[in-house]
Amino acid sequence: MQGYRSRWRPTPILGRVAERYLIRTFGCQMNVHDSERIAGLLEAEGMQATEELDAADVVVLNTCCIRENADNKLYGNLGQLKALKERKPGLRIAVGGCLAQKDRGLIQDRAPHTDVVFGTHNTASVVDLLRRSEHDGAVMEVLEESHTFPSALPARRDLPYSAWVTIQIGCDNRCAFCIVPAVRGKEISRPPEEIVAEVESLAATGVVEVTLLGQNVNSYGRDLTRRRPLFAELLRAVGAVEGIERVRFTSPHPKDLRPQTAAAMGDTPTVCEHLHLPLQSGSDRVLAAMHRGYTAERYLEKLATARAAVADLAVSTDIIVGFPGETDDDFERTLEVVAAAEYDSAYTFVFSPRPGTEAAGFGDRFVPPAVAAERFARLTVVVERSALHKHQARVGRTERVLVEGPSRKDAAVLTGRTRQNKLVHFAAEPLSPGTFARVQVTAAAPHHLLGDLVEVTARPRHKTRIPVAAL
Ligand code: SF4
Repeated sequence: MQGYRSRWRPTPILGRVAERYLIRTFGCQMNVHDSERIAGLLEAEGMQATEELDAADVVVLNTCCIRENADNKLYGNLGQLKALKERKPGLRIAVGGCLAQKDRGLIQDRAPHTDVVFGTHNTASVVDLLRRSEHDGAVMEVLEESHTFPSALPARRDLPYSAWVTIQIGCDNRCAFCIVPAVRGKEISRPPEEIVAEVESLAATGVVEVTLLGQNVNSYGRDLTRRRPLFAELLRAVGAVEGIERVRFTSPHPKDLRPQTAAAMGDTPTVCEHLHLPLQSGSDRVLAAMHRGYTAERYLEKLATARAAVADLAVSTDIIVGFPGETDDDFERTLEVVAAAEYDSAYTFVFSPRPGTEAAGFGDRFVPPAVAAERFARLTVVVERSALHKHQARVGRTERVLVEGPSRKDAAVLTGRTRQNKLVHFAAEPLSPGTFARVQVTAAAPHHLLGDLVEVTARPRHKTRIPVAAL
C-alpha cells in the first residue's frame, strides 16, 4: 500500500512467538476504520487476532470521546486490564483514538499500567511505540497533524465484500457540541487518484461495495483545488471502477451539499440512493447557536434538490434534543422540520456536554433532563411514524439486497441491505455474505423490512478474507 513502510518485519513485536492481539473499539465508524488499520499493522508484523482477553499479548483500546461516558468506559476497561497485567506482566496495553488525543499523559497518570498512548494522527506508529515500550517503559506520543491517511495503511477487514475508504481526515467546522475538530485536526483531503487506486485494488479482491468516509465529505477537495466541487467528480470516478456495484458515503454536511453532488448521485448508477443529511435541530436560533451554517428553510431546499436529482432517494439524519437554551418553541420547530423532511430513519440523541466543546460551557442554559426526555419521546414518535410510512410504501416491491449474513435474532433468517440502506430480513437457505439476491418485501416496521427470497442474482467474488495488504 502506498504511504506505509514497515521498518521491522517480520520480527515479533514483543520478541516472542505466536503473539496475539485484541482490539476494543469505541465510537464512530472512523474509529472502526482506524481499528482495521491497527489490526492490519499488527498482522503485518506476524501477530494474530484473538477474542479472548486472557490469550492476548497486546491489547489496544481505540477510544472515542464523542459518545457519552467515554472516560468511564476507558477507565473501566483499564481497571479490568490492571488485574490481568498483574497476573500476566508481559501484557502490553495501548490506548489510542480521540480520548487519547485529548487526554494524553493524563491516561498514564490515572492508569500507570498503560504502556502506550498514541493519538489520532499517529496510528501508523503503533508498532514502533509498542516496541519502544518493551525496551524503554511507558511511552506517550500524540502528534498535532496526520502524515498518513488511515486508508494508506495495511488493513485486516472483517467484511470481505464491503470496505471503508477514507477520503478526508479532520474537520474545519466548529459545531458547538462536537469535539472532532479538537481531536482530529484540520481538514485534509486525500488525493483523488490515490482514492481511486485503492478502490480499484479493493475491487480486484472482490469488494463490491465501498463507503467513502470523511467528517464532511461534501467539502472534500477544497484544500486540493479551487475547482469545485471535487466530491461530485470523486463520486463519478469511484462509481466508474469496474467491479464496484455500490458506492456510499458518510457524512455530508448540509451547508456544503452542492447541486452538482446531487446530480452525480443521480446519474452514477453505482452510487446508492441514500443520503445521510444531519439536521441536528429545526430551530434557526438553535442552529445558529450550534454554528451549523444553515437555516431550516435552506436545509429543506437542499433536501428537495437532492430528491429531485435522485429517484427513490432514502434520507436519514441526526437530531440533538435539548441543546442548551432550546425552548419549547424551538423544539416545535424541530418537529415541524422532521415531519416536512419525511425521513426514512433518524439517529436521535439527548444533548449531553462533551468536555472540551463550546457547548459544555453553556451550563447556565442546560435543559432540565426531564424536559429533554419528554421531548425525545415525542420526537421518537414523529420519526418512527415517518419511517414506518416510508417502509410501508415498499411493501410489494422486489428489492435487490446485498446479503450481510444471518439475522442477529434468528439464525434461520438472513439479513440483507437495499441500495436505500434498508435492512431486509428474509427466510432462506444459508447464503454467503456478499451475495446479491432479489427479495420481495412483504411487511414493514419502522427499522426494517420483511421479505421472501425471489432469486439469487450474484454470488460473492471474494475469497474468505482479504489478506493483509502487501507493502
Ligand atoms: S461538521 Fe460539525 S459535527 Fe461534523 S465533525 Fe465537523 S464539527 Fe463535528
